[in-house]
Amino acid sequence: MPGIRGLFIPGPTNVPQAVRLALDIAMEDQRAPDLPAFTLPLFEDLRKIFKTRDGQVFLFPSSGSGGWEAAMTNTLSPGDKVLIARFGQFSLLWADMCARHGLDVDVVDVPWGEGVPVEIFAEKLKADKTHAYKAVLVTHNETATGVVSDVAAVRHALNDAGHPALLFVDAVSSLASIDFRMDEWGVDVCVSGSQKGFMMPVGLAIVGVSQKALAARKAAGLRRSYFDFEDMIKTNKDGFFPYTPPTHMLRALRASIDLLLAEGLENVFARHYRLAEGVRRAVAAWGLSLCAKAPKWHSDTVSAIVIPEGFDSAALVKHAYNRYNLSLGVGLNKVAGRVFRIGHLGDLNEIMCMMALAGSEMAMRDLGIPVEAGSGVAAAEEYYRETGAAAALRKAA
Ligand SMILES: *Cc1c(COP(=O)(O)O)cnc(C)c1O
Repeated sequence: MPGIRGLFIPGPTNVPQAVRLALDIAMEDQRAPDLPAFTLPLFEDLRKIFKTRDGQVFLFPSSGSGGWEAAMTNTLSPGDKVLIARFGQFSLLWADMCARHGLDVDVVDVPWGEGVPVEIFAEKLKADKTHAYKAVLVTHNETATGVVSDVAAVRHALNDAGHPALLFVDAVSSLASIDFRMDEWGVDVCVSGSQKGFMMPVGLAIVGVSQKALAARKAAGLRRSYFDFEDMIKTNKDGFFPYTPPTHMLRALRASIDLLLAEGLENVFARHYRLAEGVRRAVAAWGLSLCAKAPKWHSDTVSAIVIPEGFDSAALVKHAYNRYNLSLGVGLNKVAGRVFRIGHLGDLNEIMCMMALAGSEMAMRDLGIPVEAGSGVAAAEEYYRETGAAAALRKAA
């Protein structure tokens, strides 16, 4: 099909030109004496993205899920109790991986569309006088439902209870797009990946680890080999890796971080909020609702949109792809057929969001879903103009 494909799934996201060009390099010598001059500053700048001063960031050749495995196997022992809330496909998979590694998983099931139940966590942590919980797991941004959770509140619950459990956060679809503060929130392991906010191809698990979590590895009895922090620590300190690093991905990561820091992280977050808000205005104008049940849970990186009873969101996503060359996210698991998702993160601007909205609108109308022609597009357009160009013109006048 001629023309560009609209890629509006919540990862992989669109890869900016500077990152694509950075990938296109001849293979490098991974033991070259000048490699550390490139890798050591890269590790340093990664800390800025995680907002950590003392934490260490590891890069594993893997998708984001490998970061989950690294987090648990390096810090926990078989039978260790962990606390996690399950409210979407990603928190579900994370809990499942914990169980498969022989952890004792205390799962709190929450309706899909809500976030981490902080009050329930607080009660459980207070009641746990023997400190049986070794880790509390928080999915910062549940990509399946477009729900963001309050990590700082979970940290407060831990502190209020005087509980020493480690705090793990899955920030795969939030880091570098939604504000994340590793040190301030006392996060011990933060898992991310290359193909979402970092605007790169899939292939790097990017894991931030606190000094407390690094210390926990000494007593951690789970089996680990490929994902062992120990081997990374020994070699990373001199700018090298325990096995062949994907150097082209490291070059791409450099380009990505350069873009993020040049724009300014706070500006990146504000852009994501604004673009997301335009999408939310469109959803409201269509007369539809988000899967996220309250504004405090609205994700700025992905919107899961509930379609009316009697329609199938999988058919809608398929039609958008076949007819308009537009990739939208399908509903997963419990919300399969019920929601479609617009991923609005990474290398994105207003016009690109308008493309996703116009395409969604056309596809919905094609399938007979009762939305008024142009309604969502008009609402987003007004919001983007009002808060963007129009606001700038008023300021200049
Ligand atoms: C994308 C994603 C992951 C990781 O998935 P991979 O396919 O292994 O990269 C984990 N958690 C969340 C919330 C995600 O959005």
